[in-house]
Amino acid sequence: MRVDRHSKVLIIGSGPAGYTAAIYAARAALEPLLIEGLQPGGQLTITTDVENWPGDVSVMGPDLMARMRAQVAHVGTQVVSDTIVEVDLTAKPFVAVGDDGSRYTGDAVVIATGASARWLGLDTETRYRGAGVSACATCDGFFYRGRTVAVVGGGNTAVEEALYLTNFAAKVYLIHRRGALRADRTNQARLRANPLIEPIWHAEVAEVLGDGRVVTGLKLRDRRDGRLRDLAADGLFVAIGHDPATGLFRRQLAMDDEGYILVAPGSTATSVAGVFAAGDVQDRQFRQAVTSAGMGCMAALEAERFLAGHTPHAIAAEPGAPVTT
Ligand code: NDP
Repeated sequence: MRVDRHSKVLIIGSGPAGYTAAIYAARAALEPLLIEGLQPGGQLTITTDVENWPGDVSVMGPDLMARMRAQVAHVGTQVVSDTIVEVDLTAKPFVAVGDDGSRYTGDAVVIATGASARWLGLDTETRYRGAGVSACATCDGFFYRGRTVAVVGGGNTAVEEALYLTNFAAKVYLIHRRGALRADRTNQARLRANPLIEPIWHAEVAEVLGDGRVVTGLKLRDRRDGRLRDLAADGLFVAIGHDPATGLFRRQLAMDDEGYILVAPGSTATSVAGVFAAGDVQDRQFRQAVTSAGMGCMAALEAERFLAGHTPHAIAAEPGAPVTT
């Protein structure tokens, strides 16, 4: 049902950044409204064990996010399930429009829309998405019991996906474009210790092979000599990083060439005064749940100061351009 709602602080996004912003804003009596989007809880809802969230030796990603959401509700945040399709950051108050036309306005806005999985960009990858090609082992691993799968990527996500898939698959290939992994030492040690995983180094996926219905294998290119070979596989899991989910804000906020929102140093202030960005939308370096949560806290505190009339310095949209206030 179409609704119009106003809040002092409008939070868009529901990962650790958005939830933490909501907790701080609610406790500052700012009565925030949080729009939780298509994947409530964000990327952590599609991970398994999280072992680096302080206070928990090990916690399942979806459980951690459910706990954060419960805390958000407990402190009095209104949570709305909607997908924002349009924003106007030149209006006062700021405007966000949901996909059924609902209008949400805010005197300050916290953007915490996170990031979405990056794809290889192959036609055949698109063709077999959902028919053997996936970006989420926790969502789709179950379908590969006793089968052969491949994971592409060399970071922590790729290694954790490969390890997780060994719960189901009989064989897991880890395809990486270089000869050394980017994943941390703990994950690398776990990978080496797992006999079901076979790394394939210096290789890239040139094509996803299929029978027109499902994936049957991959065409791999050796990056050292360009040689091609076919690898039989029933599934491909793409784990090559993420892109910031900032398309909505393009041309309204200053961004870098990869679409990360630019913020003032040591701050979450964007190029528009009163609009703050927290988590993966502005962080290309750390991208951890705990750093995102920290930025969510900063954004709420900065929004509070902004609403009290102490404008945190926004950054210039273009070098030398005036700041929008
Ligand atoms: P990363 O950016 O860390 O790694 C992406 C990997 O994909 C790299 O190995 C990269 O290769 C490879 N890659 C990128 N583009 C392509 C391409 N077009 N074709 C083939 N390979 C490609 O992303 P992750 O998602 O793994 O991790 C994101 C962040 O989240 C990191 O900071 C990571 O540490 C963190 N994380 C932490 C976890 C934990 O602590 N438990 C769990 C999961 C993630 P190359 O190395 O050559 O650049």
